[in-house]
Amino acid sequence: VAKKQGRNLVKPFAPSMQDELAKRVRIEGDLRAAIRKAEIVPYYQPLVDLKANKIIGFEALARWKTASGAFIPPSEFIPVAEEAGLIVELTDHLLRRACTDALSWPNELVLSFNLSPIQLSDRLLGLRILKILGDVGFPPHRVELEVTESAIIQDAATARIVLDDLVNAGIRIALDDFGTGYSSLSQLSNYRFDKIKIDRSFVASFETNDKQDKVIKAIIALGTGLGVTITAEGIEEESQLQRLQDLGCDIGQGYLLGRPAPIEEIARRSRWHQDFATPLIA
Ligand code: C2E
Ligand code: MG
Ligand code: MG
Ligand code: MG
Repeated sequence: VAKKQGRNLVKPFAPSMQDELAKRVRIEGDLRAAIRKAEIVPYYQPLVDLKANKIIGFEALARWKTASGAFIPPSEFIPVAEEAGLIVELTDHLLRRACTDALSWPNELVLSFNLSPIQLSDRLLGLRILKILGDVGFPPHRVELEVTESAIIQDAATARIVLDDLVNAGIRIALDDFGTGYSSLSQLSNYRFDKIKIDRSFVASFETNDKQDKVIKAIIALGTGLGVTITAEGIEEESQLQRLQDLGCDIGQGYLLGRPAPIEEIARRSRWHQDFATPLIA
């Protein structure tokens, strides 16, 4: 009877939950080792000026290549790094690497780098970032940091202090995944962003959905009114690109314009200026 009760009391996790947990524990251990061995590296995706038809910089996107050659996407390991207290170490490693890579780019190109939401509640973030830029010798005015709305909502007072530190040092701030949060507009009036990145879900559906088209139009108008540069993410189709250009969107990003690529591939464009002068868009 006791055995039977015991079995009933200790309810096993549902298989999917147990799998999920085991996966997390494994990833966490592997993650520590991967950071140490520098197996997590930034890939770079071009940011394209849709009016001048040229690359203005790259967004660094973390990629973890395991020993077996498989890639683990950031959506899987960034949350683990946050929960395991490894995000500071991981960010420092990635930013140092990205700035070092970007040193070899033409001077006018910017490096855009993603911050985790929880990092905006760390008052030392500004200092840490500036220390890395200083060590590497990469100028703050060529750095753009992408933050999401949820980051600011979590601890608004601290987020403001941290963002002010960064802005005062000459770093630009982009509001990433705009439109997916629940208080986008209040964030816009509470803080002065340099850039708004329209979430790719809007771009993906805006041709099939007439209202989405109007939403994008309104966001672009909002950007113009606020003096904020608008970037559209996730451009995959010529027709999407065309429509965004017609609407006067400033910057575009997406597989159509360039997929995230390792630095070796970016650096292979030895004829930078020629490459950038050549219209990317017909
Ligand atoms: P994000 O910052 O919004 O980055 C854009 C994501 O969209 C990237 O996914 C990129 O590869 C993907 N993407 C770009 N163009 C297209 C397209 O045309 N179609 C589609 N379907 N997707 C496109 P990725 O690299 O998997 O990164 C996912 C998220 O992980 C990022 O979203 C960012 O929030 C986070 N992340 C990436 N790297 C880092 C990092 O170094 N640190 C932190 N804290 N977060 C990072
Ligand atoms: Mg981003
Ligand atoms: Mg985004
Ligand atoms: Mg995103």
